[in-house]
Amino acid sequence: MSVGVVWFRRDLRLADNPAWSDATRRHRRVVPLFVVDPHLWNRCSPRRVTLLAAHLRALDERLGDSGGRLHVVVGDPVEVVPRVVERFRADEVFFNRDVTPYARARDSRIQARTFVHEGCFVLPPGSVTTRKGALPQTFASFHRAWTEAEWDLWPEPGDGAPTDDPGDGVPPSRWEGRAGEEAAERALREFLGRIDRYETDRGRLDLDPTSHLSTDLKFGTLDARRLVVEARTAGGSEFVRQVAWRDYLAHLMWFRPDLVTRSLDPRFDRIRWLDDPEALEAWKTGHTGYPLVDAGMRQLLAEGWLPNRVRMVTASFLVKNLGIDWRLGERWFRRHLLDGDVSQNVGNWQWVAGIGLDRAPYFRILNPILQSRRHDPAGRYIRRWVPELENLPDRYVHTPWLAPEPLVRGAYPAPIVDLRESRAAALQRYRAVLDQEVDR
Ligand SMILES: Cc1cc2nc3c(=O)[nH]c(=O)nc-3n(C[C@H](O)[C@H](O)[C@H](O)COP(=O)(O)OP(=O)(O)OC[C@H]3O[C@@H](n4cnc5c(N)ncnc54)[C@H](O)[C@@H]3O)c2cc1C
Repeated sequence: MSVGVVWFRRDLRLADNPAWSDATRRHRRVVPLFVVDPHLWNRCSPRRVTLLAAHLRALDERLGDSGGRLHVVVGDPVEVVPRVVERFRADEVFFNRDVTPYARARDSRIQARTFVHEGCFVLPPGSVTTRKGALPQTFASFHRAWTEAEWDLWPEPGDGAPTDDPGDGVPPSRWEGRAGEEAAERALREFLGRIDRYETDRGRLDLDPTSHLSTDLKFGTLDARRLVVEARTAGGSEFVRQVAWRDYLAHLMWFRPDLVTRSLDPRFDRIRWLDDPEALEAWKTGHTGYPLVDAGMRQLLAEGWLPNRVRMVTASFLVKNLGIDWRLGERWFRRHLLDGDVSQNVGNWQWVAGIGLDRAPYFRILNPILQSRRHDPAGRYIRRWVPELENLPDRYVHTPWLAPEPLVRGAYPAPIVDLRESRAAALQRYRAVLDQEVDR
């Protein structure tokens, strides 16, 4: 009887999964494998590991519906995968391609007959190009080509049955939120019911209007193609445009894996970032004295998730106002975000830092007070995460240092940096490297 192995990585679902469908069509028995790779596992925040384990539990249960078990093995995949192939006398290994430098190096070293599928994004990373085969320079041109591309939903699974050997078993998890593909499907349905308000309300911090599906896309409990088909049917064109951003950043990483550490525009690699551990620590823990920044950084630590607008404001504050290297912020976000993803996080940090991506100008510096007034006018979001400011009248909640002393509960810090001065310093820092180029 022919046996195939499906190596699940960031595609933890059975529906709309091309690797799973192909394997179950070609083989009578299929080993559903997950490798706990200590190199990746130990770098994740405890919250993220807990969620991942809960997703694995859910996948195990789904496999149980057809008498199977997820086969979990701890170790280096380069050694584990061929061992599993040998043990089950399997012929072929199926998986969905990822774009990170680590994943690409790892996958190229797997010694087995492999079938590589594209089930992590809408379009295969690297497939949308200019006529010369390069990545389109701007998101707008990428988006045009992406929208015109034709594709189908992935094929249905075949009749192959999963094996029932759990291996080392799914690691324990105390996750209390939703997990697994069935819960992701329910979350998608719930969001589709309010997708018509997405475009207008998207930036509002007091309403929480976005889908919260990024974590499902990250772990693959939801298929990106299925998501786009459903959202298009429901009329969510602005929402679909955001999902195209996700594909764009995956393409970017495919073409330029060096961007994990280097600026897209190499001139900005010469920026002299400030070495200020105290300011970095204040940013990480949400004690900068700027309420929106602090609310965001505290939400990140508490929930592992942040609205896009707050990601932009906190990232801009670190890079521009504190003058700290974007890579330190990127690392902190990636460790703590449940949806933390190399391609998405690096791309967005480069965009906010204004170091070449999508021609985003370096001189755009988000003012955390204005952003706060515009997107959280009554301070509802701020009060939720910064209890020291809970009882402040609305007019002080964005600038608590102007409030009469007794109104601020506890020791809320004074601003650690002056916005106007730090803005001027940032512009100088960026211009200095551009001027160097001109001098040569
Ligand atoms: C500094 C910074 C770091 C970020 N790091 C990550 C990250 O590590 N992982 C991650 O998935 N997203 C990241 N984002 C993008 C975005 O903030 C999140 O995808 C979004 O906030 C998730 O919430 P949602 O699912 O409710 O989004 P929705 O607004 O409901 O959007 C739907 C989907 O579109 C995609 N999307 C939306 N905005 C973006 C964007 N700016 N770039 C790429 N895709 C987008 C996401 O897949 C999202 O789930 C980052 C943004 C910034 C500014």
